[in-house]
Amino acid sequence: MMDGYRHSGIRTMRSFAHAEMRRLSSALLMIGLFALWLPGLFAQTPAVAESIVIRAGKLFDAESGQFTDRPVIVITGNRIASVGSGNVPVPPHARVIDLGDATVLPGFIDVHTHLTSDAGNAGYESLGISSPRAALIGAKNARLTLLAGFTSVRNVGAEGYADVALRDAINAGDVIGPRMQASGPPLGITGGHCDSNLLAPEFHYSAEGAADGVDAVMHKVREVVKYGADVIKFCASGGVFSKGDNPLLEQYSPAEMQALITEAHHLGRKVATHAHSALAIKDAIRAGVDSIEHGIFLDDEGIQLLKEHNTFLVPTSYPLFWFQEHAPQMHMPPWVMEKAAIIIPAAKQNMAQAFRSGVRVALGTDAGVYPHGENGGEFWAMVELGLAPVKALQAGTVNAAELMGWSDRIGSIAQGKFADIVAVKGNPVANVRLLQHVEFVMKDGMVYKDEISSPSTASTAKP
Ligand SMILES: [Zn+2]
Repeated sequence: MMDGYRHSGIRTMRSFAHAEMRRLSSALLMIGLFALWLPGLFAQTPAVAESIVIRAGKLFDAESGQFTDRPVIVITGNRIASVGSGNVPVPPHARVIDLGDATVLPGFIDVHTHLTSDAGNAGYESLGISSPRAALIGAKNARLTLLAGFTSVRNVGAEGYADVALRDAINAGDVIGPRMQASGPPLGITGGHCDSNLLAPEFHYSAEGAADGVDAVMHKVREVVKYGADVIKFCASGGVFSKGDNPLLEQYSPAEMQALITEAHHLGRKVATHAHSALAIKDAIRAGVDSIEHGIFLDDEGIQLLKEHNTFLVPTSYPLFWFQEHAPQMHMPPWVMEKAAIIIPAAKQNMAQAFRSGVRVALGTDAGVYPHGENGGEFWAMVELGLAPVKALQAGTVNAAELMGWSDRIGSIAQGKFADIVAVKGNPVANVRLLQHVEFVMKDGMVYKDEISSPSTASTAKP
């Protein structure tokens, strides 16, 4: 009796479902026919994407590292249609932006940002910031970063997926900011740099990315991918801003790193690792990591491995200088100050050695440790530590694009790529400090800042 009732119920549901399916298919057919008809409709009133022509004094060709004279860049919609020089023909109704003698460069790329936190959000104060608040802090910082000439960033580490929300808001046009890759919560061992070690045991609190053991790290990679991570970040050693761990010691075993990185690669995600300890750097490279972030205690064997595996070093040099100058006024917890005193001199020395040895470098700044919008200081800091200015420019353009897997769309001013273009007045190779004062910013074919051809628009970029 009950069975019959149940079966008839199922039958009723099935026939209802079939009727629904039929209705749905005819609706889909109608939509399909409408879609076929649509192009014909628009053919009568063709929508022409606006063309913009940019003229300037010089253009930095990020691929070759050379400068060309009198560039003429034609932009249609959000893409670069052509790059020429001198008196090349331009579309008849194009809007012309004449940047005079300025130097145009590809929009800069920072592969190590923390947009959703501000300098000073360290220690116990950080516990009072909710994920929604962090996302809104991110909206403020995304704008500052874009106006500083950084048209693309990789955000490495945010609790509550605040960076994923920010990325989606930028892509939807709700807030302005750079195009983003976001990692969501960074993976790390219990009690490590990527865990949160501030609360007493009775609070039973762990950071979202804490995972121990081969199975757990594989699961955690799948989980952060599920919730929107474009890239996986993990901590292979202790760090400066974390309580109770040691930057000189490795976190995660080689087997855990191998599992984590292999699983990320299976899912089409690159992996960035925070690594200070020399052993952590080497084990991560051997396990196939795509970039070593910071790399403070990099030794000769580590340099050799970076070269053999074609792994990028992301030196995050600017905060080393910034922190030394500003930390005394920032009321940092004592454990931060103690670790920084050891880290900073070692980092400067070892980064200089890495630059001399010719490892591949991608620009990353750890923005959030210092105020957002000062990202251009990284060019200066890397040059200060011995990197040639052209190499520093390539680190922040073509190399960073390659590390993000986006060489086909950003990193150079070339036909078919996104129209992400910045300009400075003067020669940035003779004076890298100019890169901290970008005067023209275009992203996706839209001008966000122009203090050169029309200074009145300088502060009119949308909120
Ligand atoms: Zn960082």
